[in-house]
Amino acid sequence: MAKTRTKATKRRSARKPVAAKGRRYVYSFGGGGADGRAEMKELLGGKGANLAEMARMRLPVPPGFTISTEVCTYYYANGRRYPAVLRAQVETALKKVEKALGKTFGDPENPLLVSVRSGARASMPGMMDTILNLGLNDRTVQGLIRHTGNERFAYDSYRRFVQMYGDVVLDLKPRTKTEEDPFEVALHEKKRARGVTLDTDLTADDLRELVQEFKALIKMRKGVLFPEDPHEQLWGAIGAVFGSWNNERAIIYRKLNDIPESWGTAVNVQSMVFGNMGGDSGTGVAFTRDPASGENVFYGEYLMNAQGEDVVAGIRTPLPIAQLGKENPKIHGQLMQVRRTLERHYRDVMDVEFTIQQGTLYMLQCRVGKRTAVAAAKIAVDMVHEKLIAPKTALLRVDPERLNELLRPVFDLSAKRDAGARMLAKGLNAGPGAASGKIAFHAEDAEEMAKRGDRVILVRNETSPEDIRGMAAAEGILTARGGMTSHAALVGRQMGKVCVVGCGALLINYERGEMRIDGRSEVLRQGDPISIDGFTGEVFSGEIPTRPSEIVQVLVDKTLEPSKAPVYKIYAQLMKWADQVRRLGIRANADLPEQCEHAVAFGAEGVGLTRTEHMFFGEGKIEPMREMILAETTEERRRALAKLLPLQRADFEGIFRVLAGRPVTIRLIDPPLHEFLPHDAEGQAQIAADMHVPVERVRNRVEQLHEFNPMLGFRGCRLGIIYPEITEMQARAIFEAASNVKREGIPVEPEVMIPLVGHVKELKLQADIVRRVAAEVLKETGAKFRYLVGTMIEVPRGALTADAIAAEADFFSFGTNDLTQTTLGVSRDDAGRFLTPYVDLEIYSRDPFESIDQDGVGALMRTAVERGRKAKPALKLGICGEHGGDPASVRFCDTVGLSYVSCSPFRVPIARLAAAQARLTR
Ligand code: ADP
Ligand code: MG
Ligand code: MG
Repeated sequence: MAKTRTKATKRRSARKPVAAKGRRYVYSFGGGGADGRAEMKELLGGKGANLAEMARMRLPVPPGFTISTEVCTYYYANGRRYPAVLRAQVETALKKVEKALGKTFGDPENPLLVSVRSGARASMPGMMDTILNLGLNDRTVQGLIRHTGNERFAYDSYRRFVQMYGDVVLDLKPRTKTEEDPFEVALHEKKRARGVTLDTDLTADDLRELVQEFKALIKMRKGVLFPEDPHEQLWGAIGAVFGSWNNERAIIYRKLNDIPESWGTAVNVQSMVFGNMGGDSGTGVAFTRDPASGENVFYGEYLMNAQGEDVVAGIRTPLPIAQLGKENPKIHGQLMQVRRTLERHYRDVMDVEFTIQQGTLYMLQCRVGKRTAVAAAKIAVDMVHEKLIAPKTALLRVDPERLNELLRPVFDLSAKRDAGARMLAKGLNAGPGAASGKIAFHAEDAEEMAKRGDRVILVRNETSPEDIRGMAAAEGILTARGGMTSHAALVGRQMGKVCVVGCGALLINYERGEMRIDGRSEVLRQGDPISIDGFTGEVFSGEIPTRPSEIVQVLVDKTLEPSKAPVYKIYAQLMKWADQVRRLGIRANADLPEQCEHAVAFGAEGVGLTRTEHMFFGEGKIEPMREMILAETTEERRRALAKLLPLQRADFEGIFRVLAGRPVTIRLIDPPLHEFLPHDAEGQAQIAADMHVPVERVRNRVEQLHEFNPMLGFRGCRLGIIYPEITEMQARAIFEAASNVKREGIPVEPEVMIPLVGHVKELKLQADIVRRVAAEVLKETGAKFRYLVGTMIEVPRGALTADAIAAEADFFSFGTNDLTQTTLGVSRDDAGRFLTPYVDLEIYSRDPFESIDQDGVGALMRTAVERGRKAKPALKLGICGEHGGDPASVRFCDTVGLSYVSCSPFRVPIARLAAAQARLTR
């Protein structure tokens, strides 16, 4: 057995990365210099690269070294073994640290202690595990005591180390979702027995006992002895970090954030500094600006006499950084200096971790700070004004997909005032927006409830990386403990969730699945409605109606003055810059005058798709429509169409007026006719009665129109070819409406679009009718205006014969919804069962109905563009599928040379920014 495995490994390692003799796997940092730098994130991971950069900047970074991501790749490709040269390189790097600090690893007299920290290329908050105080054992702890004269500190560090090592390396973890961490249970028990509440109240003796108890726990539960040999500890920890690259929560996080598995993580080994050495020591985290609002204030939290994750773990609630200014002005001043230095150097908002050891400041991490979309926009605009960055850089700093967070609803202020009595508590406003939903106390429950279609608020004492799936499924996240930089806040913000943290009044009982508010009798259970305001941190019982964002209030509702809307002003500035940069035109898909108004308000330069069939469902229109469908002769059909004509004309007039000369692409009727008839007996009887026709006639017609595959059936231009009078009526309605509006002094620019064309003759038949009617109407009314007749490219044959089709068309508009269906041979309505697994399996990297399948559908688009433009260089090209609002698809459209993209009105700002970014990153 063992033999075959060795063989297999050998065979594999022959093909996979091999350790080249002279290859460097370890990079040192600290002592005023470093082997690495910020640009080396691929190799050193984000943490390692920035530690190196800070060391180069001569910021106070404890010395250490980084084992590169190449080792991780090697490790997984070679049956979890390391390159042979690694050991020696680690030894050398360790020697360097020992020399710099005058301490020796494992030395019982003056031991060097280290942390072992993971660090992937893209930051994965809390995804990987960190081990602190490594190098302690029953002998070295005595050395630490002698050297520091602080026995309590030494045992505090020791018990933390055994706990972290037990958890991370030896895998001693809670076994069920309700079981508490066994180490924490022992710690609580100790505090209870001693009659104290804080960890810091435990004595050196208590902590020494805990170390032994923890070790016994490990022996009992895992059947192994805690390793006393520091080198064994070190390699165990390094292996655990590499191993954690493939733990479940890391895998989920990578999926959610599109981080490829192949990247791997680096391992950072860094000499320890201690925030737990007493009242003059501490640890903290900070952002150089407020990551929730974007305010230009130093923003952070700290705890004195604490170590590592104490600040973010939510065990003690940390103090705001401003307090440090009072408590220790010298350190606070140094931090402010670091803040300035970092922002000027990186020209961005940085997120830092620091430790104070007996009055001396050390920097342990920095990275570009995650922020809400609102903060991203504000910071980008502010930094341009501060001359730190150029407008082009500012545009790249905002994720278009997240721009809709600025358009997020807020609670209706009067409804919130009315709900005042239902206010339960107040926490920290960690992620903006307003959310109402049902309480879920466990991430798994949140996931399940969301799957059932419920809106969920995940309510927990604190969140941990295990919870990310539930967090993603929830509308909002509420925690009882932890600060603005806790896991819940960090991850919630990144996911764009409404988030309230550190709401200390919540008393959650997981076992019973209920929650009380401190000092109140009311009990809330899983499933009860609750509302949270991520702008203010308020928590209410029950649902509260929401209302539109500032931007929507200014632009759409026109109920707010721009001058009183700071978020709007930032948005407007960004959009202005975006419009100066982008080449692509931006249109919207809108069927009603009101939607067109919204589209224009959001910056659409025209309408790329008006679906005429939606109009038929309006007031008083469905009856003549049905009459038309039920008609048995052309005469009857014409009579019904004559009733529809004035109704359609009025609709078009409304649209032309709102668009005021901007181009409007109107698509002729597209869906199969049976969609307009009821399929149930009751509905059919009703129609028959209304129309004074026998019910059999209705039933027969429905049966006649029945299709096995309506998507590929009697629809699109096929309708107008079989019933030309429909096309004639629609064309007349369009051109009469345009003439009427033009006569009112409003310019018009109609573009008539023939759907589902696969053969040039289909287009020709229809275009001839449209052009003939246009000429008739223009002659009748004497109006003059320019109009276009074009087609949708939405079946592969259309794309492949685009040169022929272009001869008859003034424009193409890619209908990428149908084009995706017909190219992939996948029906959008039936794809649910397999498309998600397909994406999980990375058959398609994204849902092809959300983001253009560039290799397949995209190839057809390229072909159509090339052939179409060759036949007619002036051909106008657009897209009107859902994809028009997807940033990656917008980029693709820019690359293939389309003239414009068209998307739903609320995605217009996203498309504007994405189009600008497409240019900037070409
Ligand atoms: P994460 O990636 O989860 O942020 P880190 O590797 O940054 O994990 O470690 C978590 C915390 O542990 C740090 O914020 C820091 O407070 C503490 N820490 C890590 N290394 C050291 C060290 N060498 N000395 C003191 N504290 C450390
Ligand atoms: Mg961590
Ligand atoms: Mg960190």
